[in-house]
Amino acid sequence: MTATLDKPLEYLKGVGPARADLLRSELGMHTWRDLLYHFPLRYIDRTQFHRIADLHEQSGQVQLKGVLRQLHTTGGGRKRRLMGRVRDASGSLELVWFSGLRYLEKQLEVGKEYVLFGRINSFNGKLSMPHPEMEAASEHRSKTATHFAPVYPGTEKLNQKRLDSRARRRIMHNLLEQIRPVDLPENLPGYLVKQFQLMSRYEAMRAIHFPRKPRELNAARSRLKFEELFFLQLRLLQTRQQRRDTNRGYVFGQVGDFFMRFYEEKLPFALTEAQKRVVREIRHDLGEGRQMNRLLQGDVGSGKTIVGLLCMLLALDNGFQACLMAPTEILAQQHYQSITGYLQGMGVRVGFLSGTVKGKKRKELLRLLRQGELHILIGTHALIEEPVEFHRLGLAITDEQHRFGVAQRARLWKKSRPHPPHVLVMTATPIPRTLAMTLYGDLDVSVIDELPPGRKPVQTVHRTEQQRARVFGFMKEEIAKGRQVYVVYPLIEESETLDLQNLEAGYEALSREFPGPDYKISIVHGRMKPADKDYEMQRFARGETQIMVATTVIEVGVNVPNASVMVIENTERFGLSQLHQLRGRVGRGAEQSYCILMTDFKISNEARERIATMVRTNNGFEIAEADLRLRGPGNIEGTQQSGLVHFRIADLAMDGKILRTARDLARRILEADPRLEKPEHQPVSLFLERDEKHKKGWSRIS
Ligand code: ADP
Ligand code: MG
Repeated sequence: MTATLDKPLEYLKGVGPARADLLRSELGMHTWRDLLYHFPLRYIDRTQFHRIADLHEQSGQVQLKGVLRQLHTTGGGRKRRLMGRVRDASGSLELVWFSGLRYLEKQLEVGKEYVLFGRINSFNGKLSMPHPEMEAASEHRSKTATHFAPVYPGTEKLNQKRLDSRARRRIMHNLLEQIRPVDLPENLPGYLVKQFQLMSRYEAMRAIHFPRKPRELNAARSRLKFEELFFLQLRLLQTRQQRRDTNRGYVFGQVGDFFMRFYEEKLPFALTEAQKRVVREIRHDLGEGRQMNRLLQGDVGSGKTIVGLLCMLLALDNGFQACLMAPTEILAQQHYQSITGYLQGMGVRVGFLSGTVKGKKRKELLRLLRQGELHILIGTHALIEEPVEFHRLGLAITDEQHRFGVAQRARLWKKSRPHPPHVLVMTATPIPRTLAMTLYGDLDVSVIDELPPGRKPVQTVHRTEQQRARVFGFMKEEIAKGRQVYVVYPLIEESETLDLQNLEAGYEALSREFPGPDYKISIVHGRMKPADKDYEMQRFARGETQIMVATTVIEVGVNVPNASVMVIENTERFGLSQLHQLRGRVGRGAEQSYCILMTDFKISNEARERIATMVRTNNGFEIAEADLRLRGPGNIEGTQQSGLVHFRIADLAMDGKILRTARDLARRILEADPRLEKPEHQPVSLFLERDEKHKKGWSRIS
């Protein structure tokens, strides 16, 4: 016998084979369960009616009550449509249908009063309502007038085939009539239901579709959000545990000379508490005999490099080699320079490899690496290419990982036998915690949430075009003090030509304002050859030019401590996380630094909010949270590739608190009862076994 929820849709009253097909092809629904779990988008108050005279372009979806005054078809062939007009005490509105005309003509009666629901459309200032849902007013009063009529996410096609919200409501009614409490047994431990006073699963399911009161709706929402996030976290933590149990890794059991000597004699500053904590977390991982996969998040300038270096020294102490990969040549070279600087006199042999290392030099480097005479290799993607063989690679670090594909990281794994190397992924792209818990739920995450002491926070201001002269004046003052200035332009693929023109016009304006020989200006953009870009970057880094005009190519990792001013042009076109990355290029030295956000006078409210956020705070996590709120989780960098689960009801931007609670509880339950064998956890394990396997999309994140 099929469980009730597993029954195919067509066996539900009001559905039938044709509608079942449509629901399948349009919304991917197959069973009663799928239908049940398709929650309303929102609710409309079916007791309220708009007056036609009050409608306007932006009215959106409205409910009206009026008498149908006219009904006639016009046009022929594909242009055929049905036109109508509805009138209430205040005015009249045009109605139009493009399909199902014959049926509608038969059903609808001129002179009869209807309740209509639909979206207001405006064409050349004339308002109309295409494909309204129509219901005889007499029927409406008797049956469905509620404050919370559910509106379901639909599609154009479903609406055209009369599977609109009204039809869906009918179907949902039929479904809920068929479902008993035994079909939706409680899946959370009884003590949690009690402790958090959660609505029962059965009740919540009924109430989310047809709530009677706001309180009931809220209780149903909280319950279902919690349930969704709880099971997601439980699965993520289980996956991680399984991975930990199966992936064996090298044991870095001892802290030896390299690490100790560096720590005690060479380290030019005291580590921050956050850095110390992260080093401890990593050391713990490396000593355990399982392979480490750790994400190290830390705001720009928080000092991730030194943490990575300490880990590499730990690898050397245990007889292994280590490598560090960066996404660009410039960044890789900077790492090479700073790391060889740190390690001077320690007898550590460090090599550099990128596409620019060729011929004899390359051959010799690869030989040293293969024979284990090189301890540390720093470079670009070139590191993971086929002919690069390590003698004994124990640790691989990638910096700014969002530029590295998953496939490239996977290639790293093949560089070592018998175990894959430990992997540390460093990123300054702030990811909100709620998102990180979900995206990287199977990675371990360390966070450096503290900047080294003595940093002066970058001062950020918003300026408009009218204030341009003052901005130039300020740049001159700073340059006179010996500082350097970045001027950054947006460059977006779709409008690349125009953007480059902008950049060049800006460069010319700057050249007039800052003429040689006193001033020298560098320019770097994506259309230049890599070698030319590098040359200009190096000139600026050495202080030979005072102004760097660039597109966003400078955003990742570049370190010019003497640059103290960042001017961002057309700021409204940048996303928040990009702005934060850009600002991170200044404030790296001892001087007070400034970030000037230039825009036109007129900008959208959303852009205004982005800019206000930048002016208000320097905290990457706060900015990431704001970004998540403004754009929604789907647009945050990294989420598309990762195939982030689609939530049925939870919203990562809004439900951070529920998520944290759910994760916490899931963790505690698994710690106390890893196999979920205790009687009180039986509802959980039963649900995971039976129901959860139906959940689509799960496979995408595990
Ligand atoms: P990021 O996390 O952005 O990669 P870096 O590792 O480049 O940051 O560090 C930024 C700067 O801060 C470097 O110049 C580094 O030497 C310095 N630094 C790192 N840790 C400390 C510390 N604990 N105290 C003082 N300066 C530090
Ligand atoms: Mg860095």
